[in-house]
Amino acid sequence: MNSSRPTFIVGAGFTGLFTALHLRHRHDPRSITLIDPQERFVFKPMLYELLTGELSEDTVCPTYKELLQGSDIHFVQDKVTAIDLRQKQLTLASGSDCAYAHLVLTVGSVQGYLGTEGAQKNAFAFRTRENAIALERQLRDCLQRASQIKDQQQRRSLLTFAIVGAGPTGVEMAATLADLLPYWYARLGGDMREIRIVLINHGKTILAGDVNAGLQEEALHAFRTRTVPVELILGVGVKSVDANHLEYQPANSTEIKTLLTQTTIWTAGTAVNPLIQSLKFQIPADHIDKHGLPIVTPTLQLLDFPEVFAAGDCADVQSKQLPALAQVAYQEGASIAHNLIALAKGASPRPAHVGLRGTLMKLGLGNGVANLFDKVQVAGKPGDLIRSATYLEMLPTPLHDFRATAEWLKEETFHHYHRPKLESETAVKQPLSLAEQRDRSLVKALAILAPIAFLIAAYFGLRTPPSEQFKQPRPNPPTQSTP
Ligand SMILES: Cc1cc2nc3c(=O)[nH]c(=O)nc-3n(C[C@H](O)[C@H](O)[C@H](O)COP(=O)(O)OP(=O)(O)OC[C@H]3O[C@@H](n4cnc5c(N)ncnc54)[C@H](O)[C@@H]3O)c2cc1C
Repeated sequence: MNSSRPTFIVGAGFTGLFTALHLRHRHDPRSITLIDPQERFVFKPMLYELLTGELSEDTVCPTYKELLQGSDIHFVQDKVTAIDLRQKQLTLASGSDCAYAHLVLTVGSVQGYLGTEGAQKNAFAFRTRENAIALERQLRDCLQRASQIKDQQQRRSLLTFAIVGAGPTGVEMAATLADLLPYWYARLGGDMREIRIVLINHGKTILAGDVNAGLQEEALHAFRTRTVPVELILGVGVKSVDANHLEYQPANSTEIKTLLTQTTIWTAGTAVNPLIQSLKFQIPADHIDKHGLPIVTPTLQLLDFPEVFAAGDCADVQSKQLPALAQVAYQEGASIAHNLIALAKGASPRPAHVGLRGTLMKLGLGNGVANLFDKVQVAGKPGDLIRSATYLEMLPTPLHDFRATAEWLKEETFHHYHRPKLESETAVKQPLSLAEQRDRSLVKALAILAPIAFLIAAYFGLRTPPSEQFKQPRPNPPTQSTP
């Protein structure tokens, strides 16, 4: 390793941030520079909680300053605009050039629009903190205007919310809005039954081909039982998106249909990050996959440039089909850290071992499903509790974890969010079924046990390594890496 040149990590999302934290946790003495254009990390699986207000911005999107406090990781808030793989040099948007010894490329993916007319301009994406803030503003604005407008057609278009794409983000979004928007609208004095949540998909089934495909029935059940039921328009292609409507065409038909809506949320498709795209002239064509992602070895190194690691949503691991998931990115970060240390010691890097531990989905306010190791499904309130507890545990520092957990428990305890009830639901109070009684007991048990488990785990240090706080800045790092 050329010790005068630092290791650069480009992109401080799940893979990049956790690579840096793992390196420091393992007392690697190298100089690390982490570059990201944003001031805040985004915990994407909980972006819905930022939209709904169930969790605060500081919990879902902590600042890098806070996350890296006490470590000697050098954070640069900037965007990398070009990479010269042969010269081993980066160019930043601010104009400076940086030479690297090792490079970790973890810039994720960007929203794709499948070439749909008007989609990029008029639809709302949901991948970043800024997206979540803009969407919240739009939703509140539509509800506010609808509550004051007499014209029925205008009100209908304001109160119709279309979500394009029935992958996990579209499904979670639809179920969440179907509880949230009636609640917000009722507070404005509106009639929640006027709200329509419409999920539109090209395929004929939801969650098709996704790791969550096994949760289809659970998601459909959630759609039927939200405060307002989610409407499905399946097997159609969205042709265009305008500020006031969208057009779609059913498969095997020439007829174009129109849905009047002032809010289209776009979750269909991802695209390759432009920085990764710009590398296509430096990487041989047969080392780039059909989606445009560079192929990396099982040890996560570029095939032609072993000093460059790439992982997460911006790389394709040779002969492995890994889904674009935070849990994959997080484990790959640990593996890159291990391999960087191995290389520094003159040892061989080892293939990344990524295990999928099941999946978790938010299916409404206080409703979720946990698919544990593809064997057990826990749905409803207990599923939601498992999902929240799991993600809160993954947040990067114990201090932060503790605050987030406290916030979440307060939410659970004081029921900030009651799902508003339609009149028919409130008229007769049904006795609880046996299954519901069992659910309630389980929820109570979890609510008591979860914080105790957190405290015990925190006390004994039974945590994932990167979560461990940097108790003291380490002024004199050891010259040898500890295994
Ligand atoms: C709404 C939503 C919900 C999700 N829910 C789940 C879930 O429940 N479970 C799950 O496992 N996964 C979930 N995912 C997927 C998961 O978030 C991603 O797979 C994961 O974030 C990928 O990690 P990454 O490190 O590759 O990229 P990211 O986490 O996206 O990080 C990329 C980083 O690179 C930075 N960057 C981009 N371009 C540049 C540049 N030119 N220079 C410098 N920095 C740059 C970005 O600012 C960003 O911080 C969800 C995704 C979304 C959008």
